[in-house]
Amino acid sequence: MAMGTGNLLKWIVAFRRMKSPPSATLIPLHAPELSGNESRLVQECLESGWVSSAGPWLARFERAFAARAGVPHAVAVVNGTSGLHLALKAAGVEPGDGVLVPDLTFAAPVNAVHYCGARPIFLDADPQTWQMDAAALEEFLAQECELRDGACFEKKSGNRVRAALPVHLLGSACDMDRILPAARSSGLRVVEDAAEAVGTLYRGRQAGTLGDCGVFSFNGNKIITAGGGGMVVSRDEMLAERVRYLANQAKDDPEEYFHRELGYNYRLSSVQAALGLAQLERLDAFLARKRQVAAAYGEALGRLAGLEAMRVAPEVSPNFWLYTFLLPRGVAAEGRRAFIGRLREEGVEARSLWHPMHSLPVNAPLRAFRIRHAPELFARAVSIPSGPGLTDAQVERVIAALAAAHSRL
Ligand SMILES: *Cc1c(COP(=O)(O)O)cnc(C)c1O
Repeated sequence: MAMGTGNLLKWIVAFRRMKSPPSATLIPLHAPELSGNESRLVQECLESGWVSSAGPWLARFERAFAARAGVPHAVAVVNGTSGLHLALKAAGVEPGDGVLVPDLTFAAPVNAVHYCGARPIFLDADPQTWQMDAAALEEFLAQECELRDGACFEKKSGNRVRAALPVHLLGSACDMDRILPAARSSGLRVVEDAAEAVGTLYRGRQAGTLGDCGVFSFNGNKIITAGGGGMVVSRDEMLAERVRYLANQAKDDPEEYFHRELGYNYRLSSVQAALGLAQLERLDAFLARKRQVAAAYGEALGRLAGLEAMRVAPEVSPNFWLYTFLLPRGVAAEGRRAFIGRLREEGVEARSLWHPMHSLPVNAPLRAFRIRHAPELFARAVSIPSGPGLTDAQVERVIAALAAAHSRL
């Protein structure tokens, strides 16, 4: 429901009056940690004179990221969302096509489907791992779709289903052992949203490098940041070059500016690439710290009756992006809001997961397949501070705040 201008103004005024604005006094959810080579490399970039998208910095960042991810091709883009848009286009998604997406996700991948003029088809979340349910994907393809000449069509509407867009949520990963073969045998392309999964491994391989294309984000609250930015990776050179071409205004002839088709200006700047390079150097240290923090939270959760952590499948080595747990069964969204309010009173920033996509006005008219678990996960989930710069004292304060809020459940 659209928020009227009057309401919006009231909200802004109320927000400004809030006693504790986020970040000033709260232990932040995921603040950037910039005390390594960040200033030095950004300074070096400025002194080199290459501050825009030309020059050596982007290629340096792309090579370093590709090497770390274990893929031959990486294309830096202005943010993860634009990377998803181009990855879907490069995978052949056209207006009217269906794209299988999780119901429980941040909105960006679903928005990217809309940018293509395509139709998101929402699949439920696995109740244990919270990732897109591989069984739901298999059932949807088996029951609702048919193959014609190697292409997948929805039986009822006759619409083409072109791709699956699994999202690796909260630093864990989807069940790719099931999703990939199911998608492939139905002729679907697989674009992985690994925005939250830099450093997450699936059977020893970087999540986001298993499908046709993977997309990462360097937003300020992600595992590593470039102050905004994204990366599209692929093993397929044609796909990667297609993304690079579209991100560069689809310039067929850079001398005479000849364009065959519609392009985009989605390139990253060199200043951001320099920042990203410095952050990438620190990824292992960040992962180690996040693992320690998650272990401390996991232990604390064990002492608080009814709280449940996300289950991580044994083949996944997570990056612990945002530590998130469920409040006891039966707690509804109201109870979760109150719990988050109490954490804030204790000086701890916390937040909920995302409204299930099928329930949002922006996504109507919708196509959702047997959604059962996503709404309950949304109602019960709480994310708590997980940044790599958290001190032991801060972790102790978060745990004490959890115990205090839990005692009033
Ligand atoms: C952050 C995020 C994105 C978008 O990345 P931006 O760089 O902010 O555009 C996409 N998908 C998921 C799951 C994310 O968490």
